[in-house]
Amino acid sequence: MSNGDWSPQSWRERPAAQDVVYPDKEHLSRVISKVRNLPPLVTPSEIERLRHQLAQVQRNEAFLLHAGDCAESFDACTHENISNKLGLILSFSLILIWGARLPIVRIGRIAGQYAKPRSSPTEKIGDREVPSFRGDNVNGLDPDDRTPNPDRLLSAYFHSTTTLNHIRGLLGSGFASLHYPRDWSLAYVRSPALRAEFERITDGLTDSLGFTRTIGYGSDSSYEQGGRKGALDEVDFYTSHEGLMLDYEEALTRKFAVPTSIVPSLKNVTETTSSGKPAAYYNTSAHFLWIGDRTRQLNGAHVEYFRGIRNPIGVKVGPSMKPDELVELLDIVNPDKESGRVTLITRYGASKIDLHLASHIAAVQLAGHPVVWICDPMHGNTLTSSSGLKTRNFGTIISELTSCIRIHSECNSRLGGVSLEFTGELNEEGFSVTECVGGSMELSEEELGLRYQSFCDPRLNFEQSLDVAFLVSNYFKN
Ligand code: PEP
Ligand code: MN
Repeated sequence: MSNGDWSPQSWRERPAAQDVVYPDKEHLSRVISKVRNLPPLVTPSEIERLRHQLAQVQRNEAFLLHAGDCAESFDACTHENISNKLGLILSFSLILIWGARLPIVRIGRIAGQYAKPRSSPTEKIGDREVPSFRGDNVNGLDPDDRTPNPDRLLSAYFHSTTTLNHIRGLLGSGFASLHYPRDWSLAYVRSPALRAEFERITDGLTDSLGFTRTIGYGSDSSYEQGGRKGALDEVDFYTSHEGLMLDYEEALTRKFAVPTSIVPSLKNVTETTSSGKPAAYYNTSAHFLWIGDRTRQLNGAHVEYFRGIRNPIGVKVGPSMKPDELVELLDIVNPDKESGRVTLITRYGASKIDLHLASHIAAVQLAGHPVVWICDPMHGNTLTSSSGLKTRNFGTIISELTSCIRIHSECNSRLGGVSLEFTGELNEEGFSVTECVGGSMELSEEELGLRYQSFCDPRLNFEQSLDVAFLVSNYFKN
């Protein structure tokens, strides 16, 4: 790829939507200089591996699950929260594997998903109008702590590192082994049908595991023995966040040699290392980054930054996107039409998807852009409940998802994955959050206040997420 006049800082010449204005620019510079010298969080090999796996998704050889919180918070960086989130992602993907018999590529909205774009620069809290909360890496949830503070970016780096370290630790010591489903806690699952479906899968898995062990694959106790991991125990897991805070993203953008063992046919890479090896700029803050629906202006700073990094990227596509604008955007961020580079995350709203998706698919097909299409049935379906809490209706989420599956097949295309906001968080008594209404647990509007914990968008809870997993899994079976 010829990057023209791209550099990690060329975005600075462009207007940045959702810009954060820091009162003390010197302070920001000091923090950014510090971040610039800190080690990368992820490696080029991991990033290239994900690119390769997303190309498999694009060829219908795998399915993508992108999920996690709308926004992480520094306070929620605990063992319980991280392991519950990881556990839910693994459980969800296991249900999909069981139904679809396809490998699942798992990308968490985790270990860096701190910044939020907002529809308005201010918000009303009680009778005060205060600057909007922009995420823990910008300002505080407390209405008296809304001045952007650059130290929060450094704190975001360390919370991301801690989270990632814990994920690596858990996965490296058997957390994802297929023994995990036996520990699934069903005690608080309200719906008998969901419990029964669950048990059917775990029984089936136990049978299959027994069989694979008998024929010599996998090992029951390889971790305990410190032995080599069996293939069944290993899972790939990748991190992601919205690439919103470009000062921070730039500071973690590093030039590295392209790991040619993972990228066998390297094309269009113009950079070289000092020793003459092919090189590229990697954003090392996460494996996958996406451009939000509010920051995807063709001439804007975010698109400029994203076009030059080697990571696989996501682009949110909402109802205001014009079909030719979408193709122009793809021409900018993927001029060489490389498979695995771009994932389009569509989020129109259940009542709008029929108006837009088919024309977007047609334009992309005509232009010959290889993309992964995934459905985000959350962001076009947010509403305010009568009590004033932001919520989403499970039925509406499912409606956008099923429309999306149908429209793709009508257009000779295929849904490659889903992007969800969910949480496995449980309170001390083991109950899940109450932020979205409906689902097999039939959560009512009156119950929303019981355990509403999100300080950003409402998330599906443990049971509601598994409802979605079964739905998608059944779609593949049929
Ligand atoms: C999000 O994914 O949390 C988000 C803000 O999405 P969008 O850019 O699609 O509104
Ligand atoms: Mn959100």
